[in-house]
Amino acid sequence: MATNPGHRPEDHAFVLPAATIAGTTFFAATGEARSAICNAATGETIGWQEHATAELVDRAVHAARNALIAWRHTTPAARGRLLRKIAELLEADRERLSAMQMQVSGKPRFEADLDVSDAAATFNYYASLCDDASMFAAESVAVPDDTLQAERMHEPMGVAALIVPWNFPMVTTAWKLAPALAAGCTAVLKPSELTSPTEHMLAEIVSEAGVPDGVVNVVNGGGDVGAWLTAHPLVDKISFTGSTASGRKVMQAAAQDMKRVTLELGGKSALIVRADADVAQAVTLAVGGAFANAGQMCSATARILVHDDVYRKFMAAFETAVRALVVAPPDHGGAAMGPLISAAQHARVTALVAEGVEAGAQIAFTGKLDSACADGFFMAPVVVAEPAANNTLWTDEVFGPVACVKSFRSDDEAIALANDTRYGLVATVATNDEKAARRYKAQLRAGLVWINTPQLIFPQVCWGGFGLSGIGRELGVAGLRSYQELRHAVGLRA
Ligand code: NDP
Repeated sequence: MATNPGHRPEDHAFVLPAATIAGTTFFAATGEARSAICNAATGETIGWQEHATAELVDRAVHAARNALIAWRHTTPAARGRLLRKIAELLEADRERLSAMQMQVSGKPRFEADLDVSDAAATFNYYASLCDDASMFAAESVAVPDDTLQAERMHEPMGVAALIVPWNFPMVTTAWKLAPALAAGCTAVLKPSELTSPTEHMLAEIVSEAGVPDGVVNVVNGGGDVGAWLTAHPLVDKISFTGSTASGRKVMQAAAQDMKRVTLELGGKSALIVRADADVAQAVTLAVGGAFANAGQMCSATARILVHDDVYRKFMAAFETAVRALVVAPPDHGGAAMGPLISAAQHARVTALVAEGVEAGAQIAFTGKLDSACADGFFMAPVVVAEPAANNTLWTDEVFGPVACVKSFRSDDEAIALANDTRYGLVATVATNDEKAARRYKAQLRAGLVWINTPQLIFPQVCWGGFGLSGIGRELGVAGLRSYQELRHAVGLRA
């Protein structure tokens, strides 16, 4: 990639460009906004992210619009070859990508590695859809008139604005970018200002794979940069992952030009442990569901419902497991849980816990921090027992390592409690009763239900939820269709 002549980064460990547009990187003029990139495990500033101006956002959208004309007419098979190449390069660069995720987010190595695997699997999956000509070919539609023929076609939507948060930056980007490119859309990506280094690396890989300049552009900065992008009249589609509050603003901005939107927002999901469950397995599901990625997951099953008959046994085993969880920096051999992403997120989660406790929530037990956690944004896991139904720790998304446990006596009660939320992203059920499992699958109001399994996410299986959890579905064939307009044609049969 070329560097825009006339602008040089300052002499610093690393300064990331404000934008990458049609293969050229742009550094802001002196005095423009920039933000620190921190190492979440040490609190140190390790670099700087320059912020794009409204003018750079406009240039990025125009670059995507110019590249669209040629890109949408490439064959799906040619696009598939490029997507497969991106997956190969991600795998080949695994060590560097994992190291950067560990350095910025403080994720333990196994979590950072999993992110690389998920991103590569997503590009490979959409490459395989591109190889399937039936995904893109016109299909005939039966109509009740023999003299007529009708057909259905899927066309690329156009320029896609992809706005991603900081919790799984590379993965969330892959979930959006791979189907957008497969569909024949061009893109402007806006990473989170906190975790942009891995997105820069991904953008370099996309370019190295041979994706033509202008097909994927990156603009960096905070919410204002995202807002300029969502308001731009030449953007056709917005795919946003983040908070419900920001999602509302995105949807309002989209309404002006009737832009298509996919919103992947928050959650307050349930893990249900029936009396017949394997309690040891249920504890493993509870620890993973509530504390993976330090609880910073839209899919966190932070409301744990446990049948009365196994409640005491579950709580005793859960406490042992939580106390044994090694919360430590990623270079610590046994690290199982890393820090929160930022000082602000740490302050936010700590304040939410204090507010919940002030309102009467009882902390049953907490985990502990390793001695190596002194400087970063670490927080020990917190488990609250039997909060009131209106306690904010039970009702609101915390996005940190905080889980609430409540007991229940019947399936009716468990289903009612699990569904008593305005969100509806995922749910997990621990049970050895197949009939009961079928009932939970049918009656839980959630986009994805796991039975006796950890939070497995396959690119073949759609992701998205009900209510405040968002609009539309990512991944799977629906993920591809979300970047395509559906068209029909009806005419006289030849
Ligand atoms: P936001 O929803 O604010 O941010 C998500 C992304 O959107 C970021 O790239 C952000 O930029 C950008 N953005 C912010 N405002 C706008 C806007 N008006 N228009 C367009 N883009 C915008 O999440 P935060 O990072 O502030 O986290 C706050 C809370 O959101 C968390 O504590 C958590 O509860 C929830 N959250 C949920 C996520 C999920 O996966 N469902 C993911 C992340 C957060 P930037 O951050 O660079 O300013």
